[in-house]
This record gives sequence, structure tokens and C-alpha cells, in this order.
Amino acid sequence: MLKSFAGQIGLALDNVRLFDKVEELSLYDELTKLPLRRYFNQRFQEEFYRAERFTTPLALIWADIDYFKEVNDTYGHQIGDKVLKEVGRVILSNLRKIDFPCRYGGDEIIILLPQASGEEARKLSRRLAEGISEIKIPVPFSKARELAVSMSIGISTFPADASSMESLLEKADDALYWVKSHGRGRIALASEVAAAKAEEKQTAENRE
Ligand code: GH3
Ligand code: MG
Repeated sequence: MLKSFAGQIGLALDNVRLFDKVEELSLYDELTKLPLRRYFNQRFQEEFYRAERFTTPLALIWADIDYFKEVNDTYGHQIGDKVLKEVGRVILSNLRKIDFPCRYGGDEIIILLPQASGEEARKLSRRLAEGISEIKIPVPFSKARELAVSMSIGISTFPADASSMESLLEKADDALYWVKSHGRGRIALASEVAAAKAEEKQTAENRE
């Protein structure tokens, strides 16, 4: 009886372990080790609620690897995967405990920074950009020998740039798009982009 009882306990423990593994797989991306979008959405709601309720700032970084498709096309998908893995490592080793990163999809990364201003988010972004610039992936059969990558980064903050979750995402995406269309590999705050856009508009009007 004791034997069969022990067997049943063993089985139950196996099930618990399996359940934990399944849960882990559904929350984290295996390649980058970053949380997945589903997990992020849940945390985003909680953090946004907290920021609103206690009127604390919340910064959002939206980063995207530059010319990543070209990396895959030139060196193959496996090298592309190595780049993603290294990017994940750089991000995880530079964040504060309360920051929450996410592989939002493909080569897009979002990071939530509770209680951080735009300038603090910029400081972290610079650190990330520096870490990413130090990534060197050996590519033995190419003239270059080593592959280097960069990321374009857009930043928005609550409540300075946006008053809802949707607009916080939209403003960071907007800032990222602005960097992508102005040479890539840089960091832009939503407030700077708004000013730059107004300036571009003014210049165009003056030309007319
Ligand atoms: P941009 O500078 O404008 O961001 O150009 P891009 O080439 O990085 O952008 P695009 O969105 O066209 O390409 C993203 C690529 O990311 C396309 C897709 O094949 C690749 N990708 C998405 N997920 C993975 C993955 O898990 N592994 C690898 N190796 N590639 C991936
Ligand atoms: Mg990209």
C-alpha cells in the first residue's frame, strides 16, 4: 500500500513540474528568455493602473533591430537567432528589478520602466545601445568575419506624453518610426519627435 501511495505522490509531483514547465513556456520566449506579449499585456495593465492611481511616472521603450531581415537573408536564420539571443542577454543584464521587458514579436522589444522619467529611460536605452553595439557574432565564411547590429529606440512616458495605455504604446511606436525614417540606430523621446515634426512642417511651409 505504501509503495502504491509513494507512486501516486511521485506522479502528482511530476504533474506539478510539468504544469510549471508549460506555464513557463507560455509566458517566456525560449530564444531571448524575455517574457512574451501575453505576459506583458497583463503586467502593463497592472503597472499602468498603479501609475495612474499613485500618479507616478511610467516610461515605455520600444526598440527594434535595424535591418534584421538583411541579417537573416545574408547570414541565415541561425545567425539571426544568435543575434536575438544576445540582444535578450544584453537587455536582461541591464534592467532594474522592477523593469519589465518583452519580446513583442519578431525583432521588436518593449520595456516598461515603472517610476522612470523620459530622461531615465534614455539613460537606460543608451546603456542598452552600447551593450548591443558590443555584440559580435562570428560569421566565418564572410568577408566581414564578425557581424555587428544596432537598434532603433523610441520612448514615451506617462503622464507627460500620453494618458492611456494605447496612446503610450502609440507614442513610443511613433518615436521609433521617426528614428527608422531618420537614419536608424538612435534614441528618440516622443516629446522630441513632436518638436522635430513641428519644425519639419514649418520648414516645408516656409518653402511653399
Ligand atoms: P528595419 O530596420 O526597418 O527594422 O528593418 P528589418 O529588416 O529589421 O525589419 P523587418 O520587420 O522587415 O524584418 C524583421 C525580420 O525579423 C523579418 C523576420 O524574418 C525576422 N524574424 C522574426 N522573428 C525571427 C526569429 O525568431 N528568428 C530570426 N532569425 N528571424 C526572425
Ligand atoms: Mg527591425
